[in-house]
Amino acid sequence: MGQPWLDIIAFSIGAALASFVGVLVDRWFLKEPWKILWGRSFCNTCSTPLSFLEIIPVFSWIYCRGRCLHCDARILWVYPVTELGLGLLLVLFVAKGIPLPFFFLAVLSFWLAWMDLRYQQLPLIGLLLVAVLSFWESTHIDTALFLGLVGLFCFWRKMCASGDVLLFMTLGLWVPLVALPTFLILAGIFIASTGFVLQKNRFPLAPPLFLAFWLSLVV
Ligand SMILES: [Zn+2]
Repeated sequence: MGQPWLDIIAFSIGAALASFVGVLVDRWFLKEPWKILWGRSFCNTCSTPLSFLEIIPVFSWIYCRGRCLHCDARILWVYPVTELGLGLLLVLFVAKGIPLPFFFLAVLSFWLAWMDLRYQQLPLIGLLLVAVLSFWESTHIDTALFLGLVGLFCFWRKMCASGDVLLFMTLGLWVPLVALPTFLILAGIFIASTGFVLQKNRFPLAPPLFLAFWLSLVV
């Protein structure tokens, strides 16, 4: 841990970004999703505009006891947990001196995995940002091409969707060649276990792929 004020600032930025991502996922398919950038926050169920006390990451969920103060609709625990998670993650990244692009990559991973889980879709803009961000930190064209071919093979065998091929490629830009075997083994294990648990042939691939990706970078 660094200086307390730095930890507090890092936590607040991380938690606020997580809160923004949550709203982005909720409103992605609304008619005017860009309005979340300047429009007032409102309840997803009753559309009542929310006060300042109702939009503070983590705190508001506890303050409102997990329910909307206006219509009593439940607010899922996943929101405060992700706000807490990304807040603590940024504190950790700052304390360990991990380059900032990795934190943005973590936010994007979390957004894309959530979008895939909820809508079975990967927004192209998210994949593009993952790719662009890699040019700032480290770009592994060789791994990207290899994983692109792996993705194409899976797509040809009807094991994944076209968006997943792009996900394979963009993640490849971040994976050093030495970490590639670990990534492939972990991805295989996580995808097979998800399929086994869900008892389905087709399911969102982004969550197990991101899990394998982050573990292969850490290990
Ligand atoms: Zn409400």
